[in-house]
Amino acid sequence: MIITLGAMVANEISAVLNDWFRANARDLPWRDPETSAWGILVSEFMSQQTQVDRVIPHWEEWMARWPNPSDLAADAPGEAVRAWKRLGYPRRALWLHQAACQIAAEHGDEVPSDVEVLLSLTGIGPYTARAVAAFAFGSPEPVVDTNTRRVIARAVHGRAAAGMPAARDLDDMAALLPADPAEAAVFNAAAMELGAVVCTARKPACLTCPIAEFCEWRGSGFPDNAPTKRPKQAKFAGSDRQVRGLIMAAMRAATGPVSREDAVAAGAGVRAGVGGAQTGAEQAVRAYDSLIADGLIVEHEGSVRLP
Ligand code: SF4
Repeated sequence: MIITLGAMVANEISAVLNDWFRANARDLPWRDPETSAWGILVSEFMSQQTQVDRVIPHWEEWMARWPNPSDLAADAPGEAVRAWKRLGYPRRALWLHQAACQIAAEHGDEVPSDVEVLLSLTGIGPYTARAVAAFAFGSPEPVVDTNTRRVIARAVHGRAAAGMPAARDLDDMAALLPADPAEAAVFNAAAMELGAVVCTARKPACLTCPIAEFCEWRGSGFPDNAPTKRPKQAKFAGSDRQVRGLIMAAMRAATGPVSREDAVAAGAGVRAGVGGAQTGAEQAVRAYDSLIADGLIVEHEGSVRLP
């Protein structure tokens, strides 16, 4: 559903929300106006599916060690994987290293500002490209993450939740964006922030919400009208993801190559989670093979190491 709000109401929402954001935004290090486009790009990679509190110390460490794309590109990809530590989804570290190599070699060590060019970099999808363009370069692109989608679903469409992502989400956000590019960039961050700290999935704090008076869902009495629920995420305990994490932890801790047997053994301590038909050892071998396939570990002369 594309927004049908009147332009006046959309203007009021954006003005109120931008004022609220200027007064209440969390003090995240990458929001410092001095932060480089590279710093913002790194923060976007790290923040995917990861809580901000966990990202901050990793981001600070990375930016101190690799303040420019060429600094990261000069190190082996395994160093990026090692420094990723326990942030999860470590392929992001490999992609970030690859993107750093591309930026250093093909873009003069400067993060591109154009969405289409950003999309050509490894690991950068539509959301990240728009977020970097908006937050690093002030481009008036609509940026829509899970938090933004929830705010729009409730405040504009009167729905309890947003449902599955769809192409129309960008149209919805574009219809709300202020015409002034600087205000549009602030509004992108403000809508995200509202969803992250006020209009949360489980406990929206409507009493302190700056746009409560405009909210359709609140105005209609908080109906239980969420669209089809997302499928529940599989349990982490006993999952292949957990086993991969154990193997990667052992690889990060190792000071040099280790044997394939030791790497597999590091992941074999978990009780297999799928139907009981497989053993922990079988699951560990599968996880090991998947890490090889992803390039997160490499075999070399009978042993295995970070890339
Ligand atoms: S009033 Fe409540 S439901 Fe509506 S946008 Fe604000 S926090 Fe979310």
